[in-house]
Amino acid sequence: MTTARYRRIVLKLSGEALSGEAGFGLEPSIIQSVSRQVKEVAELGVEIAVVVGGGNIWRGKVGSEMGMDRANADYMGMLATVMNSLALQDSLENQGIPTRVQTSIEMRQVAEPYIRRKAIRHLEKKRVVIFAAGTGNPYFSTDTTAALRAAEIEADVILMAKNNVDGVYNDDPKLNENATKYDQLSYMDVLNEGLGVMDSTASSLCMDNDIDLLVFSIMEEGNIKKAVMGENIGTIVRGK
Ligand code: UDP
Repeated sequence: MTTARYRRIVLKLSGEALSGEAGFGLEPSIIQSVSRQVKEVAELGVEIAVVVGGGNIWRGKVGSEMGMDRANADYMGMLATVMNSLALQDSLENQGIPTRVQTSIEMRQVAEPYIRRKAIRHLEKKRVVIFAAGTGNPYFSTDTTAALRAAEIEADVILMAKNNVDGVYNDDPKLNENATKYDQLSYMDVLNEGLGVMDSTASSLCMDNDIDLLVFSIMEEGNIKKAVMGENIGTIVRGK
């Protein structure tokens, strides 16, 4: 029996969240901390899907600003998410947590292809499923991937783990010391006020499909469990 608030979650980890202070590459101590936190939650019986970003390695926008074809640059970004996903899988399995990576772009030697029903089956068997390679389409983001997969697997919530902020503020708390944190918001607020929670495609998808989103800091160990237990951390964006 679980006393957790949520039965099935999508944990969204940006690439940056895996890179620590440096902001690029992978920081082993951070990946281990994330794995320990995921383990704690898995032990509650919560079903965990993870969507991993790639911004610590490559962002399509940067490539296109350098003159690259946008779609090509975005495919590079999707490949970056696969590298991060494999690093996380490795660390989770070192903690004894059975894990499957599913990619939206087929690479069968590396991981399973994304198959919705199979992903759900893994979750039911209490395997952590990592969704890699974004949606498989250029011009999208891994935030949109989190929204899409959450809808597909009927997750109760998206837990959006941040490494540089502990919730949603009315202004950048690093630049404005008077910035205040919201406890609760609607997607309409996020869209109307242009709050930098996630891109507008992802916000719209969450809004249209009544998906709750909790934005919180992953830098404090134990926070994923607190989020899952429904403790009052971060900012909740309500789907309805
Ligand atoms: N990307 C994409 N389609 C997707 C998901 C991601 O083209 O469905 C590319 C895009 O270029 C993006 C990069 O992958 O910049 C890395 O993803 P994202 O920026 O969402 O990573 P995060 O900011 O979460 O680290």
